[in-house]
Amino acid sequence: NLSERLERSFKILKGEGKITEINVAETLKDVRKALLDADVNYKVAKTFTDTVKEKALGQNVLTAVKPSQLMVKIVHDELTQLMGGETAEVDLEGKPAVILMSGLQGSGKTTFSGKLARMLKTKKNKKPLLVACDVYRPAAIEQLRVLAEQIGVPMYSEPDSKNPVKIAENAIQEAKAKGYDVVIVDTAGRLAVDEEMMNEIAAIKKAINPNEILFVVDSMTGQDAVNTAKEFNERLDFNGVVLTKLDGDTRGGAALSIRSVVNKPIKFVGTGEKLDAIDQFHPSRMTDRILGMGDIVSLVERAQEQYDEEEAKRLQKKIAKNQFDFNDFLSQIAQIKKMGNLKDLASMIPGVGKAIKDIDIDDNAFKSIEAIIYSMTPAERSNPALLNGSRRQRIAKGSGTNIQEVNRLLKQFDQTRKMMKMVTGSKMGKMMPKMK
Ligand code: GDP
Ligand code: MG
Repeated sequence: NLSERLERSFKILKGEGKITEINVAETLKDVRKALLDADVNYKVAKTFTDTVKEKALGQNVLTAVKPSQLMVKIVHDELTQLMGGETAEVDLEGKPAVILMSGLQGSGKTTFSGKLARMLKTKKNKKPLLVACDVYRPAAIEQLRVLAEQIGVPMYSEPDSKNPVKIAENAIQEAKAKGYDVVIVDTAGRLAVDEEMMNEIAAIKKAINPNEILFVVDSMTGQDAVNTAKEFNERLDFNGVVLTKLDGDTRGGAALSIRSVVNKPIKFVGTGEKLDAIDQFHPSRMTDRILGMGDIVSLVERAQEQYDEEEAKRLQKKIAKNQFDFNDFLSQIAQIKKMGNLKDLASMIPGVGKAIKDIDIDDNAFKSIEAIIYSMTPAERSNPALLNGSRRQRIAKGSGTNIQEVNRLLKQFDQTRKMMKMVTGSKMGKMMPKMK
């Protein structure tokens, strides 16, 4: 897998203080190979590694990060840039806004039409109208009807008509008459690019002048996806790409190639057959997927900016000697606060992000803790054993909290101290020097 291979190739850089021509060349050879294996187009991979090389060469590696980490970050940033940098929105201007689907048969147009309608209805409070313009297969109209019913969105079709252009035009009239906001036009695809299909969809485009033409493509088709995208784009000049079937272990290399070959943003991804399996496309997340590493990079980035190496070493020594006190506690809180929003930070740890999505982490949580510690005398801070009942009463009053809160903090502090002592002896002790 790509991430493992990158990791292996980055190991070459270990122990070097500066990124040099030699170690970059070695690493990038592997990066390029890994990208090719993930279905990234040859030219794209080549251009990519050239850019990374230029950026990486001669960069001084800060003491806070290892060359390998810096290299990962450069690769990450560059990949994200290649996929468009920012999330691209759909254009919903006008009443109704018109969105036209294009793509080969089986790419997921009909399913995506349903997903998009559902998303616009539930998340954006829109009133969508689904339109069935696949006049070749009666089953196609039926498929859209079933989807529409499932999500409670109206569907327009003309079962006896063989004229998709007319159907699309009539549907828009219907939308205007009934006050629908967004018209989603599902069209027929073929198994391969052919003239008739292209003529038909081009004619629909001309007749209804849509806000957006979305090109829907099966991400599992790899390199073929890129060629198909190219042909559709030359003919239709579409506005955005929908990458379907990104569930399972599809690696997403197609995303990268398509984006750079047609130079159109990827707007959505489909991640399953169910109607809620739709996501907006986030370039940075796709990079994470391709590299398979969560948002480790930004974590490194922030730590690199904010973490004081000397302070870390000093603390470690104190912890080992069981001298960790309230002054250290305060400076730890200050460190954490410097790093930014707690929830943001926690969500960057792979696997944690999803789990805490709906949990409230309060940045003010530290306020009363700080107040309590500030109300202690210097002697009490460095020797918490002094804190008897009357001192605790005084601190509670001084900090505007209450005795329960003070007791809770003391208990937590005690537990933290025990835990820290335990982990410095074992795992953390080995991990922490690596954080440098
Ligand atoms: P169309 O011919 O372009 O309209 O494609 P359909 O919407 O009929 O989809 C073809 C098949 O792909 C169907 O069996 C869908 O259930 C399936 N499909 C569509 N999108 C996804 C997706 O994101 N993930 C998975 N696993 N299957 C999908
Ligand atoms: Mg269809």
